[in-house]
Order: sequence, then C-alpha cells, then structure tokens
Amino acid sequence: MTPPKIAIIGGKSSDSLAYWKHQGGSLDLHEGSAQVALREAGLFDQFMAVARPEGEVLKIYEPNGNLLLDESTGQGERRPDSFNGRPEVDRVQLRDMLIDSLSPGTIHWGRKLSTVKTTAVGLDSVYDLHFADGTTETEFSLVVGADGTWSRVRPLLSDTRPQFSGINGVDVKLSNIDAVDAKLSKRVGLGMCLTLGSNTTILSQRNGDGCVRSYGFMRLTEDWARTCGIDWSRPAEAKKQFLDLYYRDFDQDSKDLILKADDESVIPRPMYMLPVGHKWPHRAGLTLIGDAAHVMAPFAGVGVNVAMEDALHLARSLVACRDVCAKTAVKTHERHLSNAVRDYEEAMFVRAEAYAKDTWMYLDLFFHERGGHAMCEHFANEKQQQQGQQQGQQTGVPEM
Ligand SMILES: Cc1cc2nc3c(=O)[nH]c(=O)nc-3n(C[C@H](O)[C@H](O)[C@H](O)COP(=O)(O)OP(=O)(O)OC[C@H]3O[C@@H](n4cnc5c(N)ncnc54)[C@H](O)[C@@H]3O)c2cc1C
Repeated sequence: MTPPKIAIIGGKSSDSLAYWKHQGGSLDLHEGSAQVALREAGLFDQFMAVARPEGEVLKIYEPNGNLLLDESTGQGERRPDSFNGRPEVDRVQLRDMLIDSLSPGTIHWGRKLSTVKTTAVGLDSVYDLHFADGTTETEFSLVVGADGTWSRVRPLLSDTRPQFSGINGVDVKLSNIDAVDAKLSKRVGLGMCLTLGSNTTILSQRNGDGCVRSYGFMRLTEDWARTCGIDWSRPAEAKKQFLDLYYRDFDQDSKDLILKADDESVIPRPMYMLPVGHKWPHRAGLTLIGDAAHVMAPFAGVGVNVAMEDALHLARSLVACRDVCAKTAVKTHERHLSNAVRDYEEAMFVRAEAYAKDTWMYLDLFFHERGGHAMCEHFANEKQQQQGQQQGQQTGVPEM
C-alpha cells in the first residue's frame, strides 16, 4: 500500500532554530495527556531526565506581600491531588527532545504557508500548499494545521476567528535570578509565584535555565498597547510607567520582578481564545490540532498539554487506519483516512470544550475582585469535593 501523503503545518516550522532558542517559559506536563503522548513516542524516560518535579509548587501572595499559600512549606492549603504529577520542563528542552526523535529532513524549516488549495484527483480531493517563498508542494491526502492561533489552515474549515479574551499585559524575563537578587529568588520559590490583586496579577515562573519569566496581566482593552501612552521602544521607562499606572498598591518585590527584568524589549501580549465549543463540519483531507483548533488563554495552564493530547489521538487514529488499509482495497483508503480523522475530531471537540470552560473559570479566578483569596477558596472547595468523592468510592455511598 502507498502511504497517504500527509503535511503538518506549523510545529515551529516557520521559525528558525536560533530564534526559538530564546523563546518561551516553563511548562508543566500532565499525567493524563502530554505524559501519555511522550510515553507512546518512547520519550518518557528522556523527559523525566530533564523534568523538574521540584517545580510543581505554587505560592500565592497578596499585593501587600502577605503570603496566602506556599506549597513548599505547607503554609495555606495545598492544591487538590489532581494537580500532582505535573513536573516542569523548559520549552526549549521539550522541543529539542521532540525534534531529535524525528528522522533528519522530516521538518522543512523556514517554509511559511500562504494558502492551501484543493484539486480533484479522480474522485478524491487532494491539497496543494503554497508557501510565502513562492514554492509549492502538491497532492497531499491530509493537511494537519498545527499552525497556532492565526492558523492559515483553519479558514478552510471554519469562519470563526480567535476573540480577544479581555486580558492584556506584558511578558518579561529576569535572567540568572539567584545571582541578581537572592531575595527575589526566594520570593518566587522553585515553581510558580502569583501576586493577585483585585483584577490585576503578576504571574512569575522559575525556569530550568535559572531565569524567572513574569507576566503582568490585567483586564484591559485589545488595543491597550497602542492607546495607553507607554513608549514601548524604551523598555526601562516602559516598565516603570506600566507599574506606576497599574501596580501602585503592589509591594516592591513583586514590582521588582518586572523592573529588574533584563530583556531587550518589553512585549505587550493580548490574549486570544476561540469560543468554547468551537468545531467545524468534517472535511476530508483537512484537520487542525493544538491552538489552531482551540486556542485558549493560558490561565488553566493546559494549552501544550491539550496540543500534545491532540497529536497523540490523531496519531493513534492514523495508525489504526493504516492497519485497516493494509487489509482492504486501495479504492477505499481515502474513505478510511477521512473516517480516522473524523473520529479524532469528534473526541477532540469534547475534550477541548471542557478545557476551554476550565480556562474561563481560571481566568475569572486570576482576575477576581477579591484577588488571591478567591483562588485559595476555590482550591479548598475543590479539595473537599475530591476528598468527598474518594470517600464515596471507598464506602460505595454516591456523592449527592
Ligand atoms: C504567555 C503564555 C503562557 C503559556 N503558558 C502555558 C503553560 O504554562 N502550559 C501550557 O500547557 N500551555 C501554556 N501556554 C499555551 C501554549 O503555549 C500553547 O497552547 C501551545 O504553544 C500551542 O501549541 P501549538 O503547536 O498548537 O501552537 P504554537 O506553539 O503557536 O505553534 C504554532 C507554530 O506554527 C508556526 N506557524 C504559524 N503560522 C505558520 C505558517 N503560515 N506557516 C508555517 N508555520 C506557521 C508558528 O511559527 C509556530 O511555530 C501559554 C501561552 C502563552 C501565550
């Protein structure tokens, strides 16, 4: 059997390796999703060799510096058990591990997709890819859009565009924090440190390379970066102005996580989401995974996990299809391929909807008028519910 020609668009294929070396923060990979994908790819041991289980800890401060929760010392109530088993890994390490596992030449670097066009070959449709450099690749039986928030593949399947989530702010990095400021380093701890004010947040995360990445996020308008009057071309002044405007009631340590950041630029970052329950009618030969299918704001911390879960389920469907095709007539292969993709999509729509609902719930907790108290209460309630369910399972008494 001739294998179907499959193209995966994205997965960093439009970036150069050198650019990406400087990108992105730490990720926690979850047991039931990303870790399963790594196991099936035979990469779990490699992942565990670089993973940081010690980074699975959270601290929550009030803007005045009062510590509400510190999972490393047991102050406040720990998050429910469902948050366990999620070791941290730097994006660059994860990416290198995934790329190194592929045969050389699998990724075509620097090919930016402009459009996908369909042509008929016999009774079946196939797809041609047109790239920004003027080149074309032809006759793909399946095109998988893994090209993120502003996917060029999505418009062939869905008219829906990502919508502004209401959250905007800045993203900065403080390198080598232990050497630069030991007190700040202690403030952040080994994992994630949140300083939660009324609708205004500083989210800081330690990375394996010794830097701390911080996000100053709040409820703002989509065009805020252009209209707020901050001169982004002068990063040092921009950070001061930003903090003076929005973080006056935050303590100096939390502000220093932004002030002492050493990036050459300060990046305003509006957050976008596709609507909860985004889906499309199945179309043979085309599909989406990851942010292209269901971009979510990062407040449930699931985007990469869901993207890897998508990849896992699509791969399983395609492998099952290959096995069926090996036993059937060639003329039915396109139909089997289409059914395999449809199976992946139907299950993915259900999963993505649940994750998107969670994301909105966490967004409201991150930007709550009662700040960190609302999030701590949420964790306590969830924990109580989970304990109740576990007790119910042990005694056989159903939860009311
Ligand atoms: C600030 C922030 C913090 C986050 N924190 C977390 C977290 O802690 N945990 C978590 O699980 N998730 C987190 N996320 C979400 C996570 O980053 C995304 O969900 C994840 O990267 C999605 O992966 P993806 O491959 O689908 O898309 P992307 O990572 O966006 O990759 C898409 C790729 O496609 C390429 N591309 C785009 N257009 C084209 C084109 N025309 N032709 C060819 N290639 C193209 C892009 O260059 C890119 O390399 C965070 C997101 C943000 C913004």
